[in-house]
Amino acid sequence: VWQRCLEFVRSNISEQAFTTWFNPIVPLRLNGTVLTIQVPSQYFYEYLEEHFVYLLRAAIDKEIGKNGRLEYSVIVDRGNENNQPYTVNLPNGSKSSKTGPKKDGSENQNNYTSPFYIQAIDKSVKNSNLNPNYTFENYIEGDCNRLARSAGFAVAQKPGITSFNPLMLYGGVGLGKTHLVQAVGNEILRKEDFTGKFVLYVSSEKFTNQFIEALKANQMREFQNFYLQVDVLIIDDVQFLSGKEKTQEMFFHIFNHLHQSGKQIIMTSDCPPRELKGLQERLLSRFKWGLTADLQTPDFETRIAIIQKKMQADGINIPEDVLEYLAHTIDTNIRELEGVLISLIAHASLVRQDIDVPLAKQILKNIVHDIETEVGIDFIQKTVAEYFKLKVEDLKAKTRKKEIVIARQIAMYFSKEYTNHSLKSIGYHFGGRDHSTVIHAVQSVNDMLEKDNELKQKIKDVNKQLKMTSR
Ligand code: ADP
Ligand code: MG
Repeated sequence: VWQRCLEFVRSNISEQAFTTWFNPIVPLRLNGTVLTIQVPSQYFYEYLEEHFVYLLRAAIDKEIGKNGRLEYSVIVDRGNENNQPYTVNLPNGSKSSKTGPKKDGSENQNNYTSPFYIQAIDKSVKNSNLNPNYTFENYIEGDCNRLARSAGFAVAQKPGITSFNPLMLYGGVGLGKTHLVQAVGNEILRKEDFTGKFVLYVSSEKFTNQFIEALKANQMREFQNFYLQVDVLIIDDVQFLSGKEKTQEMFFHIFNHLHQSGKQIIMTSDCPPRELKGLQERLLSRFKWGLTADLQTPDFETRIAIIQKKMQADGINIPEDVLEYLAHTIDTNIRELEGVLISLIAHASLVRQDIDVPLAKQILKNIVHDIETEVGIDFIQKTVAEYFKLKVEDLKAKTRKKEIVIARQIAMYFSKEYTNHSLKSIGYHFGGRDHSTVIHAVQSVNDMLEKDNELKQKIKDVNKQLKMTSR
């Protein structure tokens, strides 16, 4: 069965991609409708899931049927057999932490979500938190990221020594923060001068979970000691620490200690530090010691270049005009652009159709269509009200309280955007207001998007929520 799956896969991707990603797979067993394959590493597994999930699904459908399932068995890295709650990233794997809490669990959960498969991983130990694919070589430079990129690069040459300590990068979702900070980590590890340096990438969410686990297990000291050994600490999405005072306190402590010992700290956030609500002032003031740089939305040319680079890495070809069409149409974030591309490739390979602009249009329409048909005014009102911690009734009431007015306008705006209701009908659903109120609301929201960064972020969040729940 696996052989036939392979043939199917092979006929749909480049020889190079096939050799790299499919040759090393060892089929283990077929148990009813469950096919188990062995992959060489955690990273390998993640890459397959990220890039070839549709193709694999199609192959399984074809060979085993709709009930077919694929299980991955990941080979555990040597010297790392004991599940370690903290993942340590070292070039040679010779040094590993023994100090973390022995309780495991936090590490192994929810790492393996996939749209199609239920995975069973024999042992899910990662030996590195850095994705080796995130490098400077495949990070495209553009006006949108020039300062951040060169600051990152400088830090990678002399971690802890430049005045960029801490280095704080901020920018919206999918603009390349994680990629860039991981590139810095990978670059440091590559350098011989830094052999043995302990570079650690951790998301703020994971940091928080580890902290909570340690707290429960009464292993605060171990937790702290572990982090104090780090030479380069990369902590992603610090906005997540908002309102988590105990975790912040711990972070503050670790931060000070590392900083004083000349260790490098790199952080990212989805908004500028001054807008980080719920972060203690003393922590915020530390962030300002070093350099803060932002990542902006890439311009058209940069978007094209980024996608080309990805396609090249995956051994996939997409005609120029399709690239341009996509880069024109999706101008928000790179991750979304990549997502659409993957659907496009999957679709084309399933129906064995060439990738061209009409197909791209059709796929994009499907995606947009999903939102239009599944999101109704009720749903929008509910989502907006929840987001702003109001009641749906408030949105319909006569109240002119400022927060309520803004939330109401945002809900109207999305009703206009995502449903086929007329202005009149939208007004009707908001407590019988007339169509000019709706027009005014749409204009106000457009103004907010242009002039008010804080609201803009909120509007984007709501949008994300709408899209997420509707799919
Ligand atoms: P963020 O952390 O800001 O949400 P990511 O770093 O996860 O964003 O980036 C989202 C995707 O876009 C990743 O696949 C990343 O490789 C890609 N990407 C973003 N910016 C660039 C760039 N300048 N060059 C190449 N790829 C990029
Ligand atoms: Mg990120």
